[in-house]
Amino acid sequence: MKVCPKCNQQYDDDNLNFCLSDGELLMETAGGDADADATPTVYMDSPRVTNQNWEQQEPAQVQPNPAPQQMAQQPFAAPQTYQATVTPDKTLATVSLVLGILSLVLMCCYLGIPLGAGAAITGFIGMNRVNTDPDKYGGKELAIIGLVLGGISFVLSMLLIIGGILGAIFD
Ligand SMILES: [Zn+2]
Repeated sequence: MKVCPKCNQQYDDDNLNFCLSDGELLMETAGGDADADATPTVYMDSPRVTNQNWEQQEPAQVQPNPAPQQMAQQPFAAPQTYQATVTPDKTLATVSLVLGILSLVLMCCYLGIPLGAGAAITGFIGMNRVNTDPDKYGGKELAIIGLVLGGISFVLSMLLIIGGILGAIFD
């Protein structure tokens, strides 16, 4: 008769060395009375459940206390981190994105050149600002999109104009 010290599973096979469910090294049990061995495991398990409940309840009651302490410590650091992480300046990046979209939409009216150039410039500046001062400025993705869109519409508009001039010349 062998018993697993971890899960208290009992094995009648004495050739077995390890527990089949968790691989724990089996212990040799003195005596072989199956009924006497079976009942203690029942008593062993029931106190554990109540102990776990006690341990789970106690941290839950303690947890609310640390929070006010952290709140009290934060006001010194809060003004800096608040502006840095929560409200980065995305204005330029947003302007670049809007200009980039407008330049594409209005490209047919030859507005693609000024709008595209504006989008590309503001996008470039916005991107650089995020790179140099990422705490203060945000919206790098917006700036890049604005830069790309503005660049595309600017180049396409230039090609349209050049094509128009060439067409006029060769006609
Ligand atoms: Zn086991």
